Amino acid sequence: MYDIAIIGAGPAGFTAAIYAQRYNMKSIIFGDKMGGLVTENPFIENYPGLKLIDGAKLGEDMKAHAEGLGAEIKMEKIKSVEKKKNVFTLTTEWDSRVEAKTLLLAHGLKRRELGVPGEKEFAGKGVSGCATCDAAFFKDKIVGVIGGGDSAGVAALIVKEFATKTYLIYRKGEFTKMQPPYVKKIKGDKSIEVMFLDDVTEFYGKDKLEGVKLKSGKDLKLDGFFIEIGFEPEIPFEINFKIKTDKVGFIEVNKNQATSEAGVFAAGDITTASNFFHQIATAVGEGSVAADSAHLYLITNE
Ligand SMILES: Cc1cc2nc3c(=O)[nH]c(=O)nc-3n(C[C@H](O)[C@H](O)[C@H](O)COP(=O)(O)OP(=O)(O)OC[C@H]3O[C@@H](n4cnc5c(N)ncnc54)[C@H](O)[C@@H]3O)c2cc1C
Repeated sequence: MYDIAIIGAGPAGFTAAIYAQRYNMKSIIFGDKMGGLVTENPFIENYPGLKLIDGAKLGEDMKAHAEGLGAEIKMEKIKSVEKKKNVFTLTTEWDSRVEAKTLLLAHGLKRRELGVPGEKEFAGKGVSGCATCDAAFFKDKIVGVIGGGDSAGVAALIVKEFATKTYLIYRKGEFTKMQPPYVKKIKGDKSIEVMFLDDVTEFYGKDKLEGVKLKSGKDLKLDGFFIEIGFEPEIPFEINFKIKTDKVGFIEVNKNQATSEAGVFAAGDITTASNFFHQIATAVGEGSVAADSAHLYLITNE
């Protein structure tokens, strides 16, 4: 029996595991993307103490830190969680089961989709949601990116290192949600063409992506396309208890990172905490508070 089972191998989950292990709590972490979203940004410049770090390295270091303190790490997705008499049973996609006294939900957010024709058909055949993973496939090609936030900015800057031409399409008239340093780099780069006030209406091609049609009537011939239009909350596994969320679906937590269900805590992008400021620093902060609260819960309930 584990003291804490953590769903999510991102900054929130790894931080919680580090604090839990240092309280001598037996911890296990589940996650299919080791390091979480952090791994998608090769140039993180706002994590204190590290002026510039590749997110993949930061994710690996967080994992190694938690592992070094004795946390068990499983690269598996959780498909269900059952609570019976204050014990949580987690079942993975491969049907292995573990039991824990407390549960931490730190599974992050789900990538948004455009919902236009061809998007699903050409997924993995030119259309992608992860520039870090796939940009290198488009060396000397023409590539599009859609979105106006940090994810889109980072994606365009990664893609332009490989592509001969990068289109950055955004439905609004200015980048108000993107960090100013990204905006400056993008606008100062001749290989990136920014297309404001436009949107993708269709992806087309034969066996692989050949182009996109835009709302403005333009037709862009290109080889690759990255959808970076943000994220939304979901609980991507079955639970046999109720968790209070806000109207959008973010998990409601109090100042202890406790949810509406006893023994269940939540941390990181998926919660209503930190003023919805989705950053590594806030995820790390919430993860540490959650582990501390889970520790206190065990002391007072055992
Ligand atoms: C392109 C990009 C650039 C960014 N740049 C920065 C930056 O420069 N600075 C900054 O501070 N922040 C940045 N962020 C934001 C930052 O990455 C997130 O705020 C942070 O990673 C959130 O951490 P988290 O632990 O809540 O969730 P995540 O990092 O999203 O981790 C979620 C974890 O949950 C796992 N998971 C999901 N579902 C399941 C399941 N069913 N079973 C088991 N595990 C599951 C995932 O595999 C993953 O391991 C960036 C984000 C993106 C997308």
